[in-house]
Amino acid sequence: MKTNKTLTLALAVVLASGFNGTAIAAGGGTVLADPGAMEGKHFDPKGKMPSTFTIELQNGLRRTLPFEDKRDFEEAKHGFIAAPTYRQIMAEAGNVAWDMGSYEYLLQGKDFDSVHPSLQRQAILNMAYGLYEVVPGKIWQVRGFDLANISFIKSDTGWIVFDPLTAKETAKAALELINEKVGKRPVVAVVYSHSHADHYGGVRGVVDEADVKSGKVPIIAPVGFMKHAVSENVYAGNAMNRRMFFQYGVLLPRSPFGHVDQSIGKNTAAGNLGLIPPTRIIEKDLEELTIDGVTMVFQNTPGTEAPAEMNTYFPQIKAFWAAENITGTVTTQVILTS
Ligand SMILES: [Zn+2]
Repeated sequence: MKTNKTLTLALAVVLASGFNGTAIAAGGGTVLADPGAMEGKHFDPKGKMPSTFTIELQNGLRRTLPFEDKRDFEEAKHGFIAAPTYRQIMAEAGNVAWDMGSYEYLLQGKDFDSVHPSLQRQAILNMAYGLYEVVPGKIWQVRGFDLANISFIKSDTGWIVFDPLTAKETAKAALELINEKVGKRPVVAVVYSHSHADHYGGVRGVVDEADVKSGKVPIIAPVGFMKHAVSENVYAGNAMNRRMFFQYGVLLPRSPFGHVDQSIGKNTAAGNLGLIPPTRIIEKDLEELTIDGVTMVFQNTPGTEAPAEMNTYFPQIKAFWAAENITGTVTTQVILTS
């Protein structure tokens, strides 16, 4: 008998940033945890507490929205293996690239009247942090290391890495975590699902460029990947970066009065962002490739969540990954049929 299970993957939404290796001020840099956040204090001396009108509005939302439905919280725990002992990941430049601890104010069981109740719920769900087994013995993910998640497919001799995050440092930490918990394996291939920087920027944390150039480790990407990665992040890079600061409020302190969440994921890592051009482009609508024993059917989906994007189906394990075309948070989910 067939049953359908839907597992959610918190993958990232449109992320705009330069790919010249600059540490973008998102997960760290000068932006650090706010010491008053745990006490619910405003970080700015002129900051005001929510008015009675705001509190009344938030209370109304708490009464009418279906917060008694806790299924998302149960599903978010599914497959959890381990969290790392650290909360911060340092960038090579010396700044904090990632600081999950700066959001612990969200885990006190308090309702913050300065935060929309739906955003607060989403922000708590996005506190998932560590290694998760998605398909037993086949697919794992490291979550809460960046805006997107990084996925690892076990091949005959190594890992096929899907979407190596924004920053080299967070991607490297994710690879080290899975190697420590599941067993050390070499990376045999990398897949970029689409042209947004949080899905390729950390590639140098998981592969050595020399191995890509020599042909030892292929990098697979959808048709149009380079054109769109470059046009969005270089030609329009400055404008897109500025838009990101407004869109996500990444320069605000972590606080119930500042940065709470980015809805599709926690925040963007502020580390070393790079790009190794793909060596195998998926040109046709549907293409099947087998790498190190893992068969993948790629489906190009241009002009969707990104101008260059593709879904992947794994027929041997009946797993489908919709890249960022569908997400369990705002827009990816994996639909498994067993
Ligand atoms: Zn995206």
